[in-house]
Amino acid sequence: MTWNLYDRLLGSAHADQSICIEKDDGATLTYAELAALTGRFANLLASHGIGPNHRVAAKAEKSVEAVALYLATLRSGAVYLPLNTAYTPAETEYFIRDAQPSLIVCDPKEASDLRAIAAKAGGRVETLDQDGYGSLVDAAAGLPADFDTVPRAKEDLAAILYTSGTTGRSKGAMLTHGNLVSNALTLVEQWRYTQRDVLIHALPIYHIHGLFVAGNVTFAARARMIFMQKFDAERIVAAMARSTVLMGVPTFYVRLLQSQNLSERTAAHMRLFVAGSAPLLAETHRAWNDRTGHEILERYGMTETGMIASNPYDGPRIPESVGRPLPAIDVRITDPESGAVLPTNEVGMIEVKGPNVFAGYWNMPDKTAAEFRADGFFITGDLGKLDANGYLYIVGRGKDLIITGGFNVYPKEIETEIDAIPGVFESAVVGVPHADFGEGVTAAVVRKAGSSVDERAILAALSGRLAKFKQPKRIIFVDALPRNAMGKIQKNLLRERFADLYS
Ligand code: ATP
Ligand code: MG
Repeated sequence: MTWNLYDRLLGSAHADQSICIEKDDGATLTYAELAALTGRFANLLASHGIGPNHRVAAKAEKSVEAVALYLATLRSGAVYLPLNTAYTPAETEYFIRDAQPSLIVCDPKEASDLRAIAAKAGGRVETLDQDGYGSLVDAAAGLPADFDTVPRAKEDLAAILYTSGTTGRSKGAMLTHGNLVSNALTLVEQWRYTQRDVLIHALPIYHIHGLFVAGNVTFAARARMIFMQKFDAERIVAAMARSTVLMGVPTFYVRLLQSQNLSERTAAHMRLFVAGSAPLLAETHRAWNDRTGHEILERYGMTETGMIASNPYDGPRIPESVGRPLPAIDVRITDPESGAVLPTNEVGMIEVKGPNVFAGYWNMPDKTAAEFRADGFFITGDLGKLDANGYLYIVGRGKDLIITGGFNVYPKEIETEIDAIPGVFESAVVGVPHADFGEGVTAAVVRKAGSSVDERAILAALSGRLAKFKQPKRIIFVDALPRNAMGKIQKNLLRERFADLYS
């Protein structure tokens, strides 16, 4: 039996007349039409000699054709490598040099820049614009829709996905067909996905969340997606009446809550709201429940591992918890230094092992070796704890842990206290160099509209609630927290900005 992800998701799709994708202009594409498009693209790839282990890079806007290119790459046995459309030419050059793709598909506007880069890396360039036009589509138009999907084994590479670069330079995570097949099928089952589902797809497709979680799960269930090129709160609220599932980053939910039109009535047709990629505040979870009558289902995953844990479909969805480890996935909490397994409720390093865990970082054998334990557990870099019911709580990233005067301070604990203070919208706590303490606990705070809460009021409110060493030395008010495209707070930017605060 072949493990090719395409076969597992869409093997018989060529005869399936049900609708797969509905576009922004209302046009629809059936599974059969999608399968035919992937066949044409796969024939094009094959005609250029692209096959197993060759990389196909895509720096393309979200379109049905870009999705088809992803699926065609799988069919041809090659490795799909999506790039964030926001990367600058210099960043793009780094990724192209690193990954040496045989083909780069990009927006026509970038084609000449990329041709120069591609030539050095030995690859060719085709274009694809946001409306699905370009040389890629033209070249494939006359080719046959049938293509014999290249068999792949479980451990063969399907994709190289670069991490979000929240903590440093993005790393290329090598994901196998086995990784992606297992995670997609697990999520279909866990989230009770069926052919009757209609997903509101408003995420980018260069990241694991939009491509593998939202995309693969929908394909695996032969469900439908309403494919939105951009996040638009009003359009999402309007689409809820004929949809069943929304997957989003926490900022989606925060922004949707600002819509006057969001209500129990407008959300009545929906059955599932999923959040992940960054922490969902308990306040957002509760506000969503109050407004719509739905409890957001928060889950946890990373590029390197796919989804690791999820709150249950049936059973309590606990705010601030990411739920229990998914079936066949082992999660343990260890002492970051010694690696010793820690007891229930103790905070330590989250480690994970299972069929979902990647094959290593592309071109980084030393980094790969350093992130795995001898018994095969992957060291996630996230800190957290497991409670007595097996629910996982993420406390933050290991790199964000603050050590001040020899004490460990977990930013999340401080942020939770600050966020509860009237007049505070949100906060981010970082450690920055401090002559006496090593690191000084420092908070960036965003006020609620109209609030005039000041540094003194916040410090006073915290003084009764946090041990002295945990209290911020300074509160800095900002208009907004710096976030990347996935809604993740870029604490490294805050640390840079506040670097000289105590010198
Ligand atoms: P980089 O590894 O390049 O620094 P990144 O870790 O942000 O970037 P991703 O793989 O996109 O790149 O994100 C995975 C990380 O996102 C996890 O390690 C975790 O820190 C965070 N994350 C994902 N889901 C959740 C969640 N539900 N709650 C809190 N954090 C989450
Ligand atoms: Mg990471």
